Order: sequence, then C-alpha cells, then structure tokens
Amino acid sequence: MKITHFAGALAIGLSLFAAQGHAADKGTIGIAMPTKSSARWIADGNNMVKLFNAAGYKTDLQYAEDDIPNQLSQIENMITKGDKVLVIAAIDGTTLSNALANAKAAGIKVIAYDRLIKGTPNVDYYATFDNFKVGVEQADSLVQGLKQRFPKVHPWNVELFGGSPDDNNSYFFYNGAMSVLEPLIKSGDIKIVSGQMGMDKVGTLRWDGAVAQARMDNLLSAYYTKSQVNGVLSPYDGLSIGILSSLKGVGYGSGGMKMPIVTGQDSEIPSIKSIIAGEQYSSIFKDTRELAKVTVEMVNSMMSGGKVPVNDTKTYNNGVKIVPSYLLHPVLVDKTNYEKVLVGSGYYKADQLK
Ligand code: BGC
Repeated sequence: MKITHFAGALAIGLSLFAAQGHAADKGTIGIAMPTKSSARWIADGNNMVKLFNAAGYKTDLQYAEDDIPNQLSQIENMITKGDKVLVIAAIDGTTLSNALANAKAAGIKVIAYDRLIKGTPNVDYYATFDNFKVGVEQADSLVQGLKQRFPKVHPWNVELFGGSPDDNNSYFFYNGAMSVLEPLIKSGDIKIVSGQMGMDKVGTLRWDGAVAQARMDNLLSAYYTKSQVNGVLSPYDGLSIGILSSLKGVGYGSGGMKMPIVTGQDSEIPSIKSIIAGEQYSSIFKDTRELAKVTVEMVNSMMSGGKVPVNDTKTYNNGVKIVPSYLLHPVLVDKTNYEKVLVGSGYYKADQLK
C-alpha cells in the first residue's frame, strides 16, 4: 500500500517536474495586446495564456491602453528579456519596424495577431479573421435591416463610419462593406446624405466611441434637421454604442422616429444586450478562442520545425512582403441567432446577457 502510494506520489512529482521543466525549456511567449477597454482583447489575452501554458510555454501578457509608445516599450522589454516569440496585436501597425529588426537580430519570431503589422520584413505569420468578409457581412446585414424596418422608404438615408486609420483591418472592413453598398449608392437606393465617404473622411481614430458619438452628433445637426437617417454602418460595437446614444439623444427610437439600422462587431455583451432590446441591429462574432488556438498552433509548429497552419498566401501584403496568414470565419449575429451562436457555442452564458 505504502509503496504504491509512494510510487504514485513519485510519478505525480515527476510529471509535475516534467511539466515545469518543459515550460522552462519551451520558453516565454510575449503577448502584446492593444487595450483592456474592449472585452474582446481581454478574452484574446486570457485564451492565449491558457492555451500557451497548457502547451508548456510561459507567457508575458501586456496591455498598452491604446498608447503607442507604451506598446513599443512593452515589446522592447520582451525582446530584452529574451522571449522566444512575440504575438502582437498592434495599436498602430506601422510603428514597430525598429523594434522588430531587433527581434529578428535576436532570433525572435513574430506573429501579427488579428491586425497586420506593416512596413517590415520581420513578421513571420498573421493569424486573423477574414476581414473583408466582416465588412461584407456588416453591409449585408445593414441592407437586410433597411428592407425590413423601412420597406417604404426610398432612398434609404445612410451614414458611414470606419475604424481607426492606423489599423490595417479598418480598410478591409470598409472595402468589404463598400463592395455591397456601392452598387446601391450608384443605383440611387442608398443616399449618403452627408456625402462623407472614404476612410479619410469616415475613419475613427483609436476606435474611440466618444469620437464616433461626436461625429454622429455633428452629422445629425448638419444634415438631418428635415429628414431622418435610416441606417448607420458601424464597424465596431464600441462605436455603435456612441452612435446609438447620439441617435437616442435626438429622439430616435421613440415617437415617430424609428431607430436606424446600426451594425457592429465583436459581439460584446453590452451590444448583444442592445440587440436584444431592439436598438443595435447586428454585430459580428469573432471566436477569440479559435484565434488563440490557431496562434498557439503557429507557435508550436514554428518552434518544432513543423508545418505552420496557413490558408491564405496572397491577401495580406504589408508593404514589404505578403505575410502568410490563417483566416478564420466571422459570423453575423442578430436577434434571430445570438442565442444559438453565442450561448450555444459556450462563448457566453445565458445569464450574462440578461
Ligand atoms: C479588430 C476588431 C475590433 C477593432 C477595435 C480591429 O482590429 O479586428 O475586432 O473591433 O480592432 O478593437
């Protein structure tokens, strides 16, 4: 009895030792995330830490609160400390070239996480979602909503919002959306009443909801005193919240003023609640558990000399090279499917949405 116990304890002790020894051998992965102000990035960070630890790596997870110099110094620190691989969701995709040259010199591999890192040869792989498709799905949903809520209105009055101009994804979202909306603008079915089109006019620096709210306030007072807006293309839930409060502020959603169709992205809890309440119309679900999984697989394969999972080798040109990428599928979420997609997949628990 005693002997078996001892043997058991020894086995457990040895395997613990092996696990820890393993972790130390495999080294540390530096994870640089943009901000904690949006729940999706918190989920991204936590999911990666869990999976990297389970695979025997240590992790160094840092958030930079959307401050570019802060993120740069976090990354420089990771390089100095000798992290084996850097996984970076950049705040500004164009400002990391010098740091990444140092990473390369130190033999550190780099994965661009969700957002492409531009203007450097020193990014090995890119793990993301099909960002053009995100835009297509947002615009498809906008058009579907316009048909449902405003069947008799012609043309539909619409305003456009873009993401942060220093985030490469913003252009993919916008271009994807415009691939659906442009024909309808040309045919006269949709009217951009302000005339403000193009990322240079509709971009929202740092994805800031307050900036979007202020722009929506301006649009409403400058262009919508005699007519009503029917739809707003919003690329991200945090902007949608600002846009919706601006709209509610002047009476949309009550009396004779129907709430315009407002899109979004990330399926953050406040926005899903807003969808349930009939305010925001839709969002996009990007399963951060899947993105973390792909990223960990990329790192594991790179470290073991195995074949790195990629499924796109032509779309993401960072100005210096085409970065081999793995693109996951974004899923449109609205009132009709949020339970199945978000609760059914275990991403949220039903009572989180109450
Ligand atoms: C991400 C989106 C997110 C946005 C704001 C983009 O780079 O792809 O999922 O909504 O940043 O955080």
